[in-house]
Amino acid sequence: MENKKENFSEWYNEIIDLSKLSDKRYAIKGMNIWLPYGLKLIHLIDDLIRNYSDEKNFNEVSFPVLISREQLEVEFEHVKGFENEIYWVTKGGNDKLDIDLALRPTSESAMYTMFPLWIRSHTDLPFKIYQIVNVYRYETKHTRSFIRVREIHFYEAHTAHVNYDDSEKQMKEYLEIWKKLSDDLCIYYSLNTRPDWDKFPGAVYSIAFDTAMPGSRSLQVGTIHEYGENFAKNYNIKYLDGNGNLNYVSQTTFGLSERLLAAVIGIHGDNKGLILPYKIAPVQVIIVPIPGENYDKIMDYSYDIINKLKAMNIRCDIDKRDFTPGYKFNDWEMKGAPLRFEIGGRELSDHGITLSLRTQKKKIKINYDDLNNIYDYLNMVNNDIKNSSKKFFDENLIFIDSLDKINEDKMVKLYWCGSKECSDKIENISEKAALGNIYSENSGGKCIVCGKDGRLSVFSRTY
Ligand SMILES: [Zn+2]
Repeated sequence: MENKKENFSEWYNEIIDLSKLSDKRYAIKGMNIWLPYGLKLIHLIDDLIRNYSDEKNFNEVSFPVLISREQLEVEFEHVKGFENEIYWVTKGGNDKLDIDLALRPTSESAMYTMFPLWIRSHTDLPFKIYQIVNVYRYETKHTRSFIRVREIHFYEAHTAHVNYDDSEKQMKEYLEIWKKLSDDLCIYYSLNTRPDWDKFPGAVYSIAFDTAMPGSRSLQVGTIHEYGENFAKNYNIKYLDGNGNLNYVSQTTFGLSERLLAAVIGIHGDNKGLILPYKIAPVQVIIVPIPGENYDKIMDYSYDIINKLKAMNIRCDIDKRDFTPGYKFNDWEMKGAPLRFEIGGRELSDHGITLSLRTQKKKIKINYDDLNNIYDYLNMVNNDIKNSSKKFFDENLIFIDSLDKINEDKMVKLYWCGSKECSDKIENISEKAALGNIYSENSGGKCIVCGKDGRLSVFSRTY
């Protein structure tokens, strides 16, 4: 197995192969196959996103994958942002289509041609929907599993509101959802308001969640966008207010993708394999029976344990495969199961369990009745993951007060005046791009390049 610290890129590819998350040998580059274990994992992430969205009264929808050129070209600035990345369907059978159809790169233009039909009155607002679907982007850069692919597993929430104040409240609500989700995934991040030239095409402003990945780069794992009336004016989305006046709605979106999984793999994993926070682990507890005398009874006892855990809604399994216990230990460490139980003759006779945490070397002896406290052990693993994840993030986002230190192999915080000129200068000497001002960080200082007034900002090489 590759060494994560010394060779992150190779380690990342290898761990995805060995833990059987995805297969990238498909005939089309950048379109990978979700293998069963990887699909379970992303579905568990989806479940969390669904629950948090539903809690905030979003409704789930599913739009067609095709968008006509007419729909897409309603909003010029938006289309321009994507024109190099769109896959076009131009033929049906042998017939050239009258109008070209795009595979959705995102769904604004699909949804917003329907919004005027659905949103008529202030009583229809706020209007909040989301979908979890695949989107398509013709990536020309080097593709990488879960980080840069051409078919993307994507969550997109779209809202419409009576006015800008209300859509600004929605932006805050997204941050609440994100806080819970990132806590479940044990990911630390910087909230950055993207510079104008890097905001979502058509947005008033965009805020990104940027995490630090090994390999001295940041990874954008999610974004929220304030659209104000920009799309409403182009797609003619209006509502009748209480006084009988027609007004444009104010809109927002929230986007997440399989990059969440990339972050979980890259940040938490070690040289033995994946390390999964228990909320998304397909198998939270794996039982490895140890062959020996009374093996039938050992298996019966293992099933007792499984039944008890299942009654507590724990995702668990017994590894009955014809391999040695040592092989199974390694395999489940590779797969990142948070807890492993060893059940052999000794455990059977003293009605106990030998427990291993994925994040610790030592083994712990517990009693059968301690299964009632299983969440304590799962949380011990989560706490270990959070501690190392926080430490990694803090070590990899450092404040610098002079340009001499810009080439540190890390994300940097610095004061920046906001000009393209100064950001270009920084990028030229360090390859680090402006991720933007740190959201809700108001301390001011002199721009590290030109000396004018600046705000605390983050620069980094990016994936
Ligand atoms: Zn400057």
